[in-house]
Amino acid sequence: MKIFCGRANPTTGSMEWLEEGEDYDYHQEIARSRYADMLHDKDRNVKYYQGIRAAVSRVKERGEKAIVLDIGTGTGLLSMMAASAGADFCYAIEVFKPMANAAVKIVEKNGFSDKIKVINKHSTEVTVGPDGDMQCRANILVTELFDTELIGEGALPTYEHAHKYLVQEGCEAVPHRATVYVQLVESRRMWSWKKLFPIHVEAEDGEKFLVAPSEMENCPGLPSVCDIQLNQMPASDFSTLSDVVTMFSVDFSKPVQSASTYYRVQLEAVKSGKAQIVLSWWDIDMDPSGMINCTMAPYWVNPTSALQWRDHWMQCVYFLPREEPVVQGERLCLTACRDQYSVWYSLHRA
Ligand code: SAH
Repeated sequence: MKIFCGRANPTTGSMEWLEEGEDYDYHQEIARSRYADMLHDKDRNVKYYQGIRAAVSRVKERGEKAIVLDIGTGTGLLSMMAASAGADFCYAIEVFKPMANAAVKIVEKNGFSDKIKVINKHSTEVTVGPDGDMQCRANILVTELFDTELIGEGALPTYEHAHKYLVQEGCEAVPHRATVYVQLVESRRMWSWKKLFPIHVEAEDGEKFLVAPSEMENCPGLPSVCDIQLNQMPASDFSTLSDVVTMFSVDFSKPVQSASTYYRVQLEAVKSGKAQIVLSWWDIDMDPSGMINCTMAPYWVNPTSALQWRDHWMQCVYFLPREEPVVQGERLCLTACRDQYSVWYSLHRA
């Protein structure tokens, strides 16, 4: 049997598939993955634990047994948190076989084998019923299926399926909701990652500027997100043209629809300039009250709160298809389109 493994091509940056033999050592994949960074993200871990404890308590207060579905259990961490919080039983689903095998060992070593069943399947393959993987539908849904863009790891179709087939109506979800925020900016530095500016060269016969043909310069290219550490971006490198606004949010405790859609918000230009970039990030509320919030907001949004360093979740830079001059006070309309896995933006005058 041969196995395909994803690898980033260091020259082009694109993902490519390499064929590996049967005896391929998967430990390399785990080492290369972002599991370690995620597991060291204390802010994330503490808030998940608070959210899970609160969800288990709410279910118990209703006099129900707490049955947890943990989709994408990885090391089993969130299921073990749920078991420690008093959950009666956890179904821990993990599609990646070497990780599922590790989870079985970790769960056993920590003494949770009687409370946690690790299932090595994609969640959409999981069956429910007396002879199924799960005896009954769960009433607590715990997941951590998010990437920097929130939906790029397939959270939406996974939730859509889980609500249809794996959890009870009115279940508790940890996180309870996610919200995506945007801010319009002008930034020559960020725009230069997408645009071909004239290139300065020193030739024998003097200095020259190489200019790309206008078709090339005006080509918007494929809309795609660029993940960066906005906390490393000096304030002098961009100028904010709008306030931070909420673009869309997803309530994970209700049925989720993954089909392509769009969201539209009204913005007011707070400054005149060239609208080039949409900066975006998200936060997750671990409980319905919104008291347990884990945010990716950059430094200028919450200047007083301590920032958690993390590489597994950063912030997003989206390039508008073309730059739009905007005037202070002007009303604008920003549209976010999304399919099941990605988001892209366009700007219009209101
Ligand atoms: N819950 C762990 C790991 C999160 S990483 C933690 O919080 O520390 C996400 C994991 O989900 C990965 O191991 C990935 O293989 C798995 N995964 C993603 N989508 C899945 C799905 N639909 N079904 C089963 N596993 C999934």
